[in-house]
Amino acid sequence: MIAEIPRAARPADCPCGGAAPNQKPGAKAPRYAQCCGRFIDEAAVPVTALELMRSRYTAYVLGVEPYLRATWAPETCPADLDVDPAAEGAPRWLGLAIKRHEQRDDTHAIVEFVARYKTGGRAHRLHETSRFTRGDDGRWRYVDGDVSSD
Ligand SMILES: [Zn+2]
Repeated sequence: MIAEIPRAARPADCPCGGAAPNQKPGAKAPRYAQCCGRFIDEAAVPVTALELMRSRYTAYVLGVEPYLRATWAPETCPADLDVDPAAEGAPRWLGLAIKRHEQRDDTHAIVEFVARYKTGGRAHRLHETSRFTRGDDGRWRYVDGDVSSD
């Protein structure tokens, strides 16, 4: 994938925190280069929808729009996608928790997650169950999701 921002701007610890179902509270975050950085910067292909979901969260944190587009099903990817973290009113992502990862068959999976963020000084939670499909090229892609209000 194309790195939009200098590599020096990449964080040492991965913003996704290595989130996984049943992750121990206070678990140490993996190194970015060994976690989502492999997919975002090194073009490694996530083996599971869970890995893909984490790397997309991290791409939102870092504002790597080309990666988000490349991992979005073409039929649902919005034409207008602004993920610049420096933009006015942009969310500041605070953390990711994974509640559920179910691979239904070879080409379908769901990941339920809670992402916490702040906008305009207020804290919010995005609780979503996302659908992923795997294409003929073996790559998982985000299709869409159901947002729970809780
Ligand atoms: Zn990560």
